[in-house]
Amino acid sequence: MNLKLHKKDFKPFLQSLMGEYDLFAPVQLIEGVSVYKQIDHPDEVDLTFPNPQKPMKEVFFPQSEAMFRYERVGKQNQVISTEEVKRKRIILGARPCDIQAVSLLDEVFSGKEYTDSYYLNKRNATTIIGMACGHPLSTCFCSSAGGSPFSRKGSDLFFIDLGESFLVELHTEKGMIFQKNKFFTEVGAEEIRLAKNFEEKAIQKTDATVPVEGIEKRLDLMVESQFWDRVHEKCIGCRVCTYLCPTCHCFDIMDEALTQGGQRVRNWDSCLSPLYSQETSGHNPRPTNRERTRQRIMHKFNYFPKNFGRIACVGCGRCIIYCPVHFDIRQAIHWTSARRLKIQRGEQLTNP
Ligand code: SF4
Ligand code: SF4
Repeated sequence: MNLKLHKKDFKPFLQSLMGEYDLFAPVQLIEGVSVYKQIDHPDEVDLTFPNPQKPMKEVFFPQSEAMFRYERVGKQNQVISTEEVKRKRIILGARPCDIQAVSLLDEVFSGKEYTDSYYLNKRNATTIIGMACGHPLSTCFCSSAGGSPFSRKGSDLFFIDLGESFLVELHTEKGMIFQKNKFFTEVGAEEIRLAKNFEEKAIQKTDATVPVEGIEKRLDLMVESQFWDRVHEKCIGCRVCTYLCPTCHCFDIMDEALTQGGQRVRNWDSCLSPLYSQETSGHNPRPTNRERTRQRIMHKFNYFPKNFGRIACVGCGRCIIYCPVHFDIRQAIHWTSARRLKIQRGEQLTNP
C-alpha cells in the first residue's frame, strides 16, 4: 500500500511516534560521526548521511550489554535481570543494506540449537522504517551482494525521499498498523513515477561487478593458498572493519565484580584480535594476521554460506571507507576470482 508524508508533517509525525514507541534514528553525535540512537526530540534526527558510521545492529546487539546483575544479600547472591524491553520500538531511516544485515543476524541469534533472548526481545519489539538510498557511494556494492539501494526486504514501512515529501510504502502487518495514520495522505501517480525514476538511477550507481557468485567454492580450494601470505599485508589489525560491519556478531563475555555484587557483560569482539582465538593453554591457532585475515574472509564468504546459504556481507562499504590503510574487500574478492580462473586454465599460481 502506498501513501505520502509531507515533509512539513515529518517532525509532528516523529513526535506522535514517540508517544507510543522508543524511537531510534540516525543522529549526528559530533560533526561527521553518525550513529543509530534513541532520540528524545525530533530535531535530533539526521537523515543527511548516506549511512551512519555505526550500523543498525547496535540497536539489537549493543557494543556493550549487561546480561544480568548480581548483589550480595546476606550470604546469598541475588540475580537481577537486565533483559526487559519496556516499550515497543521503531527504527526510522534504516538503509536497505543494514536491514539485510539484520536478517542475517536474525538467523544467527534465533538458531536451531539455541536462541538469544537478549537480541530477540529487542528485535521482536521493533518496527523497521526503511529508507531508500537515493545517493549510493562509490564504495557501495549492495547490488553485488544480493541487495539493492531500494530493496524493501525486511522493512515494515519503506520511505522514499521525493524532495518535498516521502513516498510511504506499507509492507508488513506491523507496517499496516499505520494505514490510517493522520499524517499520511494519498499519493498520486506522478509521485510514484518519480520514485521509480529515483530507484532506477540509484541502482545504476552501485557496483554490481564484484564477483561474489561462486566465491564459497573458490575459497574451498584456497584454504592453504599463498594468497593469504599477501592479502593480509596491509592490515594493521585495528579491527575497525569488524566493529563497523553490520553483519559481524562476535562477542566476549566477562564478569565485572564490585564490592557487594557485579554484572555479567558481553562486548563486541573481533576475529582480527590476536587474543580472540587464544586457548587457555596459551596455544593460538591463528597466531599471525595472515590466519586472522583468512578467518575474516572465510567466515563471510565460505563458512557462513555453508551454514546459512548466503554470504555474510551486504556490500555496505563501511570496511572500505573507514579502514585506515584502505584494505578494500572488493579487491580481495576480485583476487579470489582471478586465482580460480588460473586454476581452471591450469596456469601457474602467483601471489595476487
Ligand atoms: S580496518 Fe583495515 S587495518 Fe583495520 S583490521 Fe580491518 S582491514 Fe585491518
Ligand atoms: S564486509 Fe564490509 S562491505 Fe561487507 S557488510 Fe561488512 S562492512 Fe559492509
